[in-house]
Amino acid sequence: MMWLGKNGDNDRPHSGEEGADQFETERLRMVEDQIRRRDVRDPRVLRAMETVPRHRFVLPEDVPYAYNDNPLPIGYGQTISQPYIVALMTELLKLEPGHRVLEIGTGSGYQAAVLSELAREVFTIEYLEQLGTSARRRLRSLGYDNVRVRIGDGYEGWPDAAPFDAVIVTAAPESVPQSLVDQLVDGGRMAIPVGTHFQELYCMVKEGKDITSEKVANVRFVPMVGEGND
Ligand code: SAH
Repeated sequence: MMWLGKNGDNDRPHSGEEGADQFETERLRMVEDQIRRRDVRDPRVLRAMETVPRHRFVLPEDVPYAYNDNPLPIGYGQTISQPYIVALMTELLKLEPGHRVLEIGTGSGYQAAVLSELAREVFTIEYLEQLGTSARRRLRSLGYDNVRVRIGDGYEGWPDAAPFDAVIVTAAPESVPQSLVDQLVDGGRMAIPVGTHFQELYCMVKEGKDITSEKVANVRFVPMVGEGND
């Protein structure tokens, strides 16, 4: 049955559900033009990007621009990343359905929702209480039940839930926090932007005591604040 609720409950965030929300056409075009046509080809990642209702994660005045090829403000001086960067970083993690993943920098909760489509459990940490609280509420109302949001300092990671199969950092530290490397499983992968004014996105793979890292792209993220930079 087609149910058009007055309060936005006509959105259909989950892969299993049928029907199209009014933004589906824009979302499919976003994936084709901005993501697949560039270089992200993992079908599960593309499917997740086609599924998550990005317009539910932006400020009300930005809803018309939710599927544009750029980052958008989410309040408190923070931004939701450009869709392509979300897809690229997600692909680097090579997530499997049984995986547990840690995100640093919940922001709007959008990246966490994309991860939630691909992994078993998502743990995400946000430094700013207002953003963390609203992301938690938003994710719950959209039915992303496998995401846990913690308000805190991501430099410490989430020791009581570690180890993780993958870690994704969506604010830029000056160097890779050792605690996050420690909380990866052997073979675990991390996508992380590093730097101050100029930043590079790294893909790291933990191999026993060693860690390999590969530069993927030049990026621009908000700085990671808290312990590590004090
Ligand atoms: N992934 C988010 C966008 C992240 S913006 C999304 O999909 O919307 C970066 C976020 O990192 C901001 O919300 C900022 O408050 C947060 N942040 C910055 N430093 C942090 C830290 N030390 N620990 C946790 N979160 C941090």
